[in-house]
Amino acid sequence: FPYTTLFRSCMAGWPSLVQQAVPEYGLLACMVLLLMALRRMLRSRQRPRDLNAIAGLGFVGITLGLASGSGLVPQLAATLSATLLGVLAVREVVRGIGNRLSRAVTFCTALPFAALVAIGLAHLGELLLQPGWDAHFLGDELPTPARAALWFVVTASITLSLIALMIWRLITRIQHLTYRDPLTGALNRRAFEQALNEAQAQLLRGRGFALAMIDIDHFKRINDQHGHAAGDAALQHCVRIWQAALREVDCLGRLGGDEFCALLPLGGPADIASAASVAERLRSSLAAQPLRWKGVELPLSASFGVALPVAGDAHGEIGLARADAELYRAKAEGRNR
Ligand code: GH3
Ligand code: MG
Repeated sequence: FPYTTLFRSCMAGWPSLVQQAVPEYGLLACMVLLLMALRRMLRSRQRPRDLNAIAGLGFVGITLGLASGSGLVPQLAATLSATLLGVLAVREVVRGIGNRLSRAVTFCTALPFAALVAIGLAHLGELLLQPGWDAHFLGDELPTPARAALWFVVTASITLSLIALMIWRLITRIQHLTYRDPLTGALNRRAFEQALNEAQAQLLRGRGFALAMIDIDHFKRINDQHGHAAGDAALQHCVRIWQAALREVDCLGRLGGDEFCALLPLGGPADIASAASVAERLRSSLAAQPLRWKGVELPLSASFGVALPVAGDAHGEIGLARADAELYRAKAEGRNR
């Protein structure tokens, strides 16, 4: 409304239809842009069908209302669609953040958008329940200071929310670049070692974990026979399959070349059987899903070495060496095991 008032004084000499149309189309356009920005920022993969439907209906409602000469209908259509778009914005923020930030942070970030919805609902109530309210807003009257202050606080906090989301996205991106292997998206060696040392420190508190060292079998042959690009695709294929087979608490790191390691937190302190069954699941799912490369199927397999680090190990690397020795045994005994 502060903006509408400002618009109105700028548009003083314009035809009244234009004076009526600009704020309504403007409100709708602002909400659509806001939602598109949110979706981009939060990398939403959702199809914008709901956004298009609400914006389309809002546009039609405003246009028909203006054409019929009604003062109320364009305002109702714009406010209703802006309110619905506000609901979408709240959903977008909550879904986009997911459980990656604390509930309190998610709540604070979504709150300004929820306030927008509340204001929209209140305004709809005013329009419908107070006769003549629509004309009141078309007149030259300025909004009350309380209204102007409320709008200022809400728009300023929406801006702050957007800035916070942008900073969060930047941090996530930098973390990704620092901790992830660019080819496969698995943790890089440095990040994996950090996770390993943290897990090793937790071992003293009774939280066990296992290490499954993994090396793709005859990987050099794929490079030699089908080219380096096929080798890269094979590495990505393996990681995609293994990530899907692992739980959220497990982490997969690429230690170098075609060598990977999975860190598997365990229920019990020395539950090697469940760790071995996870490794077996990774092995069999890769063996069952060959890589499709330029129309041919390239069968892939990997060998695994599973070991349990112990609390007496001075650091995580000792457990890693134990898993590595098991991996070499798997290679020597015929691979794909
Ligand atoms: P083994 O069953 O004994 O493991 O045989 P292998 O052929 O897999 O032998 P090795 O593990 O020594 O081969 C690793 C090869 O991986 C050698 C190297 O050229 C290739 N390599 C390392 N990093 C990459 C990469 O990022 N992309 C591709 N395409 N190849 C890579
Ligand atoms: Mg290999």
